[in-house]
Amino acid sequence: MDDAIRTEELYERACRVLVGGVNSPVRAWKSVGGTPPFIASGLGATIRDTEGHVYRDYVGSWGPMILGHADHDVAKAIAEAASRSSSFGATCPGEVELAEIICGKFPSIDMIRFTNSGTEAVMTALRLARAYTGRDKVIKFAGCYHGHSDALLVSAGSGALTLGVPNSSGVTPAAAGDTIVLPFNSSEAAARAFDEFGGLIAAVIVEPWAGNMGLVPPLPGFLETLREATKNHGALLIFDEIITGFRVPEFGVQNILNIVPDLTCLGKIIGGGLPIGAVGGRENVMGQLSPAGPVYQAGTLAGNPVVMAAGLATLKKLTQTAYQKLDYAASRLGTGLKRAGEAAGLAVSVSKLGSALGLFFSSRLPLNLESVQATQAGLYPKFFHGMIGRGDYFAPSAFEAIFVSLEHTNEIIDETIANAEEVFRSISERSGGPNE
Ligand SMILES: *Cc1c(COP(=O)(O)O)cnc(C)c1O
Repeated sequence: MDDAIRTEELYERACRVLVGGVNSPVRAWKSVGGTPPFIASGLGATIRDTEGHVYRDYVGSWGPMILGHADHDVAKAIAEAASRSSSFGATCPGEVELAEIICGKFPSIDMIRFTNSGTEAVMTALRLARAYTGRDKVIKFAGCYHGHSDALLVSAGSGALTLGVPNSSGVTPAAAGDTIVLPFNSSEAAARAFDEFGGLIAAVIVEPWAGNMGLVPPLPGFLETLREATKNHGALLIFDEIITGFRVPEFGVQNILNIVPDLTCLGKIIGGGLPIGAVGGRENVMGQLSPAGPVYQAGTLAGNPVVMAAGLATLKKLTQTAYQKLDYAASRLGTGLKRAGEAAGLAVSVSKLGSALGLFFSSRLPLNLESVQATQAGLYPKFFHGMIGRGDYFAPSAFEAIFVSLEHTNEIIDETIANAEEVFRSISERSGGPNE
């Protein structure tokens, strides 16, 4: 390519004007090392960097690109909407349509508020829960990511019942002090927290399948316990289904397990690749929001007409047939990766929820953040570099899910599996045998 811009040159320029060369930290490849390519375009299951390298993409913009890149219908919907103006700051028909579709698919959601990001949706959900219950404390689980608002940037302390300590500089102890962090999948820890703080807890927030520490399934009974405990103590249960909401044909983990949360956070897929978030729930809780109620929340660009058009075009294509196809592609990839690992003598386990996968270097799936951290044991960067060197773009972090799109054909997936066989073999040889 004559007009190719070299990665090194762009990276140098980027680092002068963008902090760390990026606008979101994981993109900087800090945990895997190396210089990230700059992505110039995408088509179907692939993305292309400014040097012309093409990669099979398993990041999918961290989830939203379930139809693949540059989907014709989404691109057309965006162009048409933009031609009618990119923003009004007044309500447009697309907001009503998208909200109707989402409310129709989630029995727990009567009403919705759209935001510009998942972070804002979660912030709003917490504010609502605190207003509704008149309480301050919130329970979250270590390894669950709920965006970067102050109260939720809290890591697990040692022990099950530690009160939150900030793990981001700039988060005050006061902002984090009402957050209780517990180990994911520990019903006992949740029960103990309610025994101790029951009357003070406004909400429990959880990713029902944790998609931000790999992809960790809930143990049978864990989410049910949270539902029971919140109900018994007058707290709200918030499901953060920003990843999971439209990854599965049932729409949300809540509809697979028939658990009705009080509030649900959505994002990613519902915006078709444009910035979005949403919080939804029962009418008597959502009705607390301004202008209907006393809980203030707003957004200059919330419900943006171009975003709504992209989301509508995306959801329209997510038919049950599409979900079957997605499921097949993910199964093929998951089974292939597991076999490839085993053939190389590595302990590998794979979790799967719809078209999302988790890959772990352990013979059994991890239960929580602690076991995830123990399993990834330095092998992930080797996997990452081996794969990207062969044209397979996985997340530059061991703690992310793998996403396939409708454009991931058998052929594409089989190429990736063949590459994984080579990469696993070389990891196994260099590390001198099994990892467990
Ligand atoms: C991505 C994500 C968020 C944050 O969404 P942003 O749009 O990045 O602010 C929150 N919760 C979960 C589960 C997510 O995966």
